[in-house]
Amino acid sequence: TTFADLGLEPSILKALEKLNFDKPTPIQIEAIPLILKGHDLMGLAQTGTGKTAAFGLPLLNRILDLGYPPKPRTVRALILAPTRELVVQIADNLKLFTKGTSVKVQTVIGGASINKQVEGLARGADVLVATPGRLIDLLERNALSLTETGYLVLDEADQMLDMGFIHLLRKIARFLPHGRQTLMFSATMPKLIDELARDYLRDPKKVAV
Ligand code: AMP
Repeated sequence: TTFADLGLEPSILKALEKLNFDKPTPIQIEAIPLILKGHDLMGLAQTGTGKTAAFGLPLLNRILDLGYPPKPRTVRALILAPTRELVVQIADNLKLFTKGTSVKVQTVIGGASINKQVEGLARGADVLVATPGRLIDLLERNALSLTETGYLVLDEADQMLDMGFIHLLRKIARFLPHGRQTLMFSATMPKLIDELARDYLRDPKKVAV
């Protein structure tokens, strides 16, 4: 299987070639076609399996297909992750995948200038990668709207629960439209993750590596 076989755009295939991503990893082979088709997904996967590209490439592909920029203060795809480090790592990866395209990836993390984040969000984001606490601060300041957000990714969901973010996640969910596509990734599958998945995902496909 090649990345082209999975149904990705030429511009993304070109970026992958430059990054020397010669062939997709098992989770990418399973997840990318399902996400492109619009399914919700529960992925059981550790870091190092290529899961960032597994959810990132199809989302970027769908956003590239739109061919026009996001409206001011709106976000097309929201990715939530437990730590600042992980947010930066995810965003850096996504920026590599969309080099040379018009796709805008922004980050929102605690400990960084909130004013700069407000300014960035004012222009609108194709993809926003965020830690839950800072995102809530910005939502409460009306710095952004999630009413146009068609995609939600919860990365390292088990770690987010361990860090006590469950109430923040539920609060954020109330800002999002019901018809969105949701992708959840977790390294482990405790009972609480199962419950969260039942609340958040609609008829999800399951992928485990
Ligand atoms: P992740 O599991 O998303 O943290 O990815 C682990 C590492 O593998 C990252 O440095 C990725 O850039 C890299 N990677 C992901 N997919 C591929 C691939 N298909 N070919 C080569 N490297 C990859």
